[in-house]
Amino acid sequence: MNKTDSDKNTAAGGKKKIALVTTGGTIAQRVDSEVGGAVPALTGEEILKTVPKLKEYADFTVVPVVNIDSRDMNFQIYCKLAHKLKKLSRDGGIDAIVILHGTDTMEETAFFLNQVIKAEKPIAITGAMRSASERDADGPRNLIDTVRVLLTPYALNGNIMVVMNGNIINGLAVTKVDSSNIDAFNGGKHGVLGIIDEFHVTWYNKPININTFKIPQRFPKVDIVLAYPGASGNLIKASVRDGAKGIVIVGYGAGNVSKQLFRTIRSVLKNKKDFIFLISTRSPEGNILPVYAGEGGAVDLEKLGVVLGGSLNPTKSRILLMLCLCSSYPKSRIISIFQKSEIF
Ligand code: ASP
Repeated sequence: MNKTDSDKNTAAGGKKKIALVTTGGTIAQRVDSEVGGAVPALTGEEILKTVPKLKEYADFTVVPVVNIDSRDMNFQIYCKLAHKLKKLSRDGGIDAIVILHGTDTMEETAFFLNQVIKAEKPIAITGAMRSASERDADGPRNLIDTVRVLLTPYALNGNIMVVMNGNIINGLAVTKVDSSNIDAFNGGKHGVLGIIDEFHVTWYNKPININTFKIPQRFPKVDIVLAYPGASGNLIKASVRDGAKGIVIVGYGAGNVSKQLFRTIRSVLKNKKDFIFLISTRSPEGNILPVYAGEGGAVDLEKLGVVLGGSLNPTKSRILLMLCLCSSYPKSRIISIFQKSEIF
């Protein structure tokens, strides 16, 4: 698939109505010299005013959800956002939806939304790496790019996409890979769905759609614990004591941990048969595979009842595990969900 649309073609037939759903992030921040850094500052309406060119493409209606730095995102806000999107999807006066979001946890929100919503209208998330105080802020360009993407016919593909720095990326696969460069996002081995330049929006790929879960109403605690040489297992014990229902262990390579962590996991499972341990990896790419045997190897972790986490990264694994637990899925179903190849 390699399809290109010029803006003139896509805007034909009258202006579309786009909902601008705002949650904050750097795109809505300015540097406050009194506190010495960027803080939430702009409303959706104010952001629109700073990008007058947007009027050439569509009419906008602002739908505020929160105005926070995305470091403060949580499941309650994800659900509020998901319900808003469902409502906007049913609104006959809205043709497409842009979500403004901080970049730090954008991938988690994108992953969550794609698990609970199949986009019935074109929907994309964007943000900025540079705040509105900077002369070369990337927010305005990202916002225009996103609107242009949403006006192409291929944007209605069921996926809630991320548009950043001229790339259209599958919302299930997107990851923030750079903490400071404006080219901060990619889709890993899944690549990009398309690109945006001054003249065209060009689509290369179609995303896979998954909408497996209902929007949850409760949020079981799932923690993430990193494996590193010398890790004692105390963090696992603390998480269990603190009421976690599951832990994503970020192991080495294809899903291995030290003897020490293995023994801690074994002792927890001895007393709490329903507790879910899921093994993920510190490697940015690749699958969890039962290759290595012995205490700590993925072969023995699997025998112990640890779920092998497929190729999702730890933070996405945590969200997927929480959704499974919200739905009270038995462990056998959780295993098959994580092993399904179409989830990546
Ligand atoms: N800390 C910001 C946020 O995630 C970073 C950004 O948006 O680029 O809200």
